[in-house]
Amino acid sequence: MPSIEPLLRVAVPSPLRRSFDYLPPHGLSAEDLPVGVRLLVPFGRQQLVGVLLAVVTSTEVSHDKLKRVKKCIDSQPVLPRDLLKLLQWASQYYQHPIGEVFSTALPALLRTDQAACVQGKKVWCLTQAGRELELLALKRAPRQQALMQQLHGKSKWDVHALSVVSDNWRPAMARLVEQGWVEVTEETVLPLVQSEVCIPHTLNPAQQAAVDAVGASFDRFQTFLLDGVTGSGKTAVYLDLITQVVAEDKQVLVLVPEIGLTPQLVSRFRDQLACPVVVLHSALTDQERLAAWLLAKSGEAKVIIGTRSAVFTPLKQVGLFIIDEEHDLSFKQQDGFRYSARDLAILRARDAGVPIVLGTATPCLETLYNSQQGRYQHLLLPKRAGAARPPQIKLIDVRKQPMDHLISVGLRERMRYHLEHNGQILLFLNRRGFAPMLICHDCGWISQCSRCDSRMTLHQQINRLRCHHCGKEQRVPEACPSCQKTDLRSFGYGTERIEQALQKQFPGHTVLRIDRDTTRRKGAMQAMLDKIHSGDGQILLGTQMLAKGHHFPNVTLVGILDADYGLYSVDMRASERMAQLIMQVAGRAGRAERPGEVLIQTHHPEHPLLQTLIRQGYGPCAELLLKERADTQWPPYSYLAILRADSTDKEMPMAFLTQAADLVGEKLGKGCQILGPVPSPMERRAGRFRAQLLVQADQRQTLQQFLGSWLAQLEALKPGRKVRWSIDVDPMELF
Ligand code: ADP
Ligand code: ZN
Ligand code: ZN
Repeated sequence: MPSIEPLLRVAVPSPLRRSFDYLPPHGLSAEDLPVGVRLLVPFGRQQLVGVLLAVVTSTEVSHDKLKRVKKCIDSQPVLPRDLLKLLQWASQYYQHPIGEVFSTALPALLRTDQAACVQGKKVWCLTQAGRELELLALKRAPRQQALMQQLHGKSKWDVHALSVVSDNWRPAMARLVEQGWVEVTEETVLPLVQSEVCIPHTLNPAQQAAVDAVGASFDRFQTFLLDGVTGSGKTAVYLDLITQVVAEDKQVLVLVPEIGLTPQLVSRFRDQLACPVVVLHSALTDQERLAAWLLAKSGEAKVIIGTRSAVFTPLKQVGLFIIDEEHDLSFKQQDGFRYSARDLAILRARDAGVPIVLGTATPCLETLYNSQQGRYQHLLLPKRAGAARPPQIKLIDVRKQPMDHLISVGLRERMRYHLEHNGQILLFLNRRGFAPMLICHDCGWISQCSRCDSRMTLHQQINRLRCHHCGKEQRVPEACPSCQKTDLRSFGYGTERIEQALQKQFPGHTVLRIDRDTTRRKGAMQAMLDKIHSGDGQILLGTQMLAKGHHFPNVTLVGILDADYGLYSVDMRASERMAQLIMQVAGRAGRAERPGEVLIQTHHPEHPLLQTLIRQGYGPCAELLLKERADTQWPPYSYLAILRADSTDKEMPMAFLTQAADLVGEKLGKGCQILGPVPSPMERRAGRFRAQLLVQADQRQTLQQFLGSWLAQLEALKPGRKVRWSIDVDPMELF
């Protein structure tokens, strides 16, 4: 490696697992450029936008092959040093190409060579020098003098206001700007509106203790698990902490699940915080997202609320991180760069030397384990806040019971009772559509998806069959495609079908169905929530969309129509998810003065997991699950990575994974166990065959070291070019 003039090491958005070295652009030397600026670089036949990682003095590339950076886009780094470090670490840890990691982290507009500012409204205002200037000094330039006189009248002027007070003001203004008496800035498209601030609740002793514990470590890194039953007032704890941090002029980053980012939550934050709050979510335009991002970077935004990718928001001076509903799956990206926003946030907090709070009623097993090990400090909110009492949870044994559209006699009776007493009812069924399949009663044809090992769901209202795995859609056939007879019957139950049945069973009551189909349109979810809150809609029926974070004060009965799914699944996480889901749905009941009742329909009422869950609650149930994990040495008692491969060819994925497994032996992979390869449970999806290989290790370190060298070898494997493959470190879903 010859030593040469300093070069630029750049993260370029490409699927290659490495960075690239370049000569500095003409007229600049490498040392002039700060790390974190964006560079326009030649790459093959393209020009790409990369980010400067480092200035280096040696390279593996021969000097005559080095290319030159076309131009430097920024004068200031778009990414501060702490984020550069985090992203490089994440690229290594999750074994994902660094260029793609950087692209994920940057707002869309910054992935282009556009300047890092928002095209806002131009405003002119006096500088300090301008304010101190004697107007007499301008007596030879009467137009400038007149303009200066106007400018003294108010602090900010836009085009409109200037045109009202003076015609042809631009040449004079240009002179004033040149002299340094006036400056032009652009106002952001996101006004930082502040509403009236409501008076917060007086915290109860448990809430206060939690606030005090976190407050005592504002000046150092500590992870807290805020383990509070649903309705225990976790949000009030967040708000109190945020108020304290913002008073010190520091920022707070709050991460929430995708679905949790309801207008309800945001307005609760805006209503109670007397400081600029920005929200980063998927419905923002690119301009708005960039604006919010820049406000966070400049420190103007004090509270940043966002979903998963907001973990990459630059912060000028952060004082606290909060992850609400830390157990939620949406914090882990499931494709491309498969990072965990929760884990990266913890890393950021450690790096910044500030506390992080993980709040939830149903901590995931990893988090519980970490707090048992003393790595996290466990804060409990054991009771509901205010007057609300915990709901009563009961199982309904549906074996041999007559059922009408998944509703047992017992459940129906309780529904009648609650309706008569003006309670709202929430029914939960995690299956949308009318029926999960269509079947021909004459020949047995079923609505198989042609691209997946799965059936197409009947959506009756729109008269279509839809595959929920690949999105394939078609009209419902009038006759059986196989035998041409017309006795096609729907099989099984989805929310749409239950909705119809409920309307018949409970005439005179309004049924509201809340699932992805009824909330697809923009604003539809909000309209639904408004209806629920106004009491219009006595029976709410929904999928897991309804389970999360909502506060429905009038819901007094929650019914879980089918709890058996999850009890006997192949995925080790299925039972954990089911317990969380049941507790979260149950948590919607009786959140105000009126007591709540939760009824769970099951064919397995004696199942130990269900029994523990309803008798003792989530904590003991999670203990039971943790013990199972310890016995079987699954995470958190070991560390996992999954190598997945897919191809349109049936044999290729297995062939590739077999070769990948064969690389592991004496020299490579000591301390790692390989499980598989096996075809995925749903082998064919969207026309591609899928297979997977599991790597397990006792130590994180062992796994990390192995993955690095293994992947380098995988890239050289021939079948690897004929399949699509990916690695998932700390997977949340095993299939
Ligand atoms: P969680 O997020 O833990 O499920 P929330 O923060 O939504 O709970 O609080 C549940 C309800 O309790 C809300 O209506 C909230 O206004 C109320 N609440 C929270 N803290 C208090 C308190 N200290 N006193 C009275 N009511 C409270
Ligand atoms: Zn048929
Ligand atoms: Zn399909």
